[in-house]
Amino acid sequence: MSDSGGNKREAFSDQPPSATPDIHILAAQWARVRGRLQAEVGELDYRTWLRQMVLIGLAEDEITVELPSRFLRDWVTSHYQARLTALWQAENRAVRRVEISVGTRQPAPGLAEPLVVPAPAPEPEPASPARVEDRSELGALDPRFKFDSFVVGKPNEFAYACARRVAEKPASQGFNPLFLYGGVGLGKTHLMHAIAWDLTQPSRAEPVSVAYMSAERFMHRFIGALKSHSTLAFKEQMRGVDVLMIDDLQFLINKDATQEEFFHTFNALVESGKQIVVSADKSPSDLSGLEERVRTRLGCGMVADLHATTFELRVSILEAKAAASNAGAIPMKVLEFLAHKITSNVRELEGALNRLIAHANLFGRAITLESTQELLHDILKAHDRRVTIEEIQRKVAEHYNMRLTDMTSARRARAVARPRQVAMYLAKQLTSRSLPEIGRKFGNRDHTTVMHACSRVAELIATDGAFADDVDLLRRMLES
Ligand code: ADP
Ligand code: MG
Repeated sequence: MSDSGGNKREAFSDQPPSATPDIHILAAQWARVRGRLQAEVGELDYRTWLRQMVLIGLAEDEITVELPSRFLRDWVTSHYQARLTALWQAENRAVRRVEISVGTRQPAPGLAEPLVVPAPAPEPEPASPARVEDRSELGALDPRFKFDSFVVGKPNEFAYACARRVAEKPASQGFNPLFLYGGVGLGKTHLMHAIAWDLTQPSRAEPVSVAYMSAERFMHRFIGALKSHSTLAFKEQMRGVDVLMIDDLQFLINKDATQEEFFHTFNALVESGKQIVVSADKSPSDLSGLEERVRTRLGCGMVADLHATTFELRVSILEAKAAASNAGAIPMKVLEFLAHKITSNVRELEGALNRLIAHANLFGRAITLESTQELLHDILKAHDRRVTIEEIQRKVAEHYNMRLTDMTSARRARAVARPRQVAMYLAKQLTSRSLPEIGRKFGNRDHTTVMHACSRVAELIATDGAFADDVDLLRRMLES
């Protein structure tokens, strides 16, 4: 715990590398972490579990926090450690872990002692950067997609924590393979790139070779190898990496030979203790069309989903992106307006913000709510289109060739009951109506009937590919 003299490494993101780590910065960061945590978990839980946390300090990349009893320590570790870690990581790039221990040190004013001084950094080794196989693939990594530009909130914190964990310690028990899934534009590729960036940092103690590519690219390369009779070289290359990352795996569905090759590569790597990271638009069990054994293997490590964003997360993302641009202040009202209007996909949200910023820069005018509405009216109009339950009923009835009145009738014949269930399922997915509200629109049915319909349809989607395609098609028609 003593100051080890000079040669301190950069410990705080917001100061130059050579400056002495400032206790006040750490204290300020801690205050923000606590504040965020408090806002997230609510006053009651915060007071019950978290208020007694005392920050001991930062040593190397580890923050130590103390709690006065073992019970509190265990509770906070199992319920809040991931979040605490994510919040700290968002505040301070040097932090990778948060250690929660038992102790009764007093919180000193302004943090005071004991602050653990970061250990000296190992000598930089510019001559031997991380061994990167397949540089061409890594050349495709987007420099904007790193951990510190990823905004963490409830919907993505678990996936984020898993990604960080894998970047920190590839191939650790329980995290291999890491399967990230979620809808379009929710950050899968961003997290994949962030892992790859982290793993290939030249400052890493142990060099790691990484291959990152989309499943589509994997397939093209495999087919190319088949054509040029160089499959052996391809196999060797793929099996020679420490970490293999395949983005958008759903692309391999129905591509039998490529799927087979991926499976063998996958097994070879896992057996030799290497890390696999995969992303897809659905969970392993919902990826119908994937071979059973592939699916099983994919699901046996850590499966983490990126949920649809919440309003709060969208606002935070916009705030972060606005701050990173040099657009000057954008009124909070405008950010909230966008977060309210564009809900489906972070990419579109970003696109809208970029347009505002470009416009403001070009014309040197401040961004206001009025100018936003004017400038983005086409995007906003597209997002204004809300699907109604009536529309869903009409489209589904049409699709299955049944009478619209049977959506609300008491008939229970399979030919009408199943489409009705599909319509209920879509109503739950595509509208913000509650289960009882949906039930009422379907001939005054009970909310448990709707609930049953939703789980039945979800089950069928998982097990019946043709059915899944059908529902997907209907959803697309309704959303367009
Ligand atoms: P996906 O691969 O899931 O379709 P991407 O990772 O390509 O989505 O994300 C789409 C865009 O949204 C990217 O520009 C990405 O940086 C951004 N994005 C998504 N989620 C976040 C987040 N939590 N924080 C910051 N940016 C995000
Ligand atoms: Mg993607």
